Amino acid sequence: METQSLPLPLPALVGHHHLASLAAEIHRTYFLKFPTLQVRWGHQIIRKKRRSIRLGSYNHDTTEIRIHPLLNAPNIPAFFIQSIIHHEYLHHVLGPGHNRRFHKQELLFHYHRESKEWIRRNLFLLLGRKARRIARLHEIPPQLALF
Ligand SMILES: [Zn+2]
Repeated sequence: METQSLPLPLPALVGHHHLASLAAEIHRTYFLKFPTLQVRWGHQIIRKKRRSIRLGSYNHDTTEIRIHPLLNAPNIPAFFIQSIIHHEYLHHVLGPGHNRRFHKQELLFHYHRESKEWIRRNLFLLLGRKARRIARLHEIPPQLALF
């Protein structure tokens, strides 16, 4: 786990999930023949007018996976965080594109359907109420999480 000092105090809810354990389980279950990748929480960036959120990323140069720190909260289910870790591991294995092969592999994650359903219902937990109001006002569907 990272122990960097942050410029602003984090909300009390943050700091719930043990990322290393969640990542180890994904590696052990799905990617055992590949090396273990470093999985870290990203840095907290305070942005008020969030319209979309990048929940995870994979860096091809460092082979490191970053997970958005807003997910480190008790109202975020562990399986959802693991779905993102699984997705980013797939980028390590299959490259940057989201092609047919990628989507097929994504289905192998045991809670794939639950994860899609969870984010569909709870994206606004992450984007905030303001984004929900803006989306309604303009009758636009909430932007799906990018990762
Ligand atoms: Zn992706």
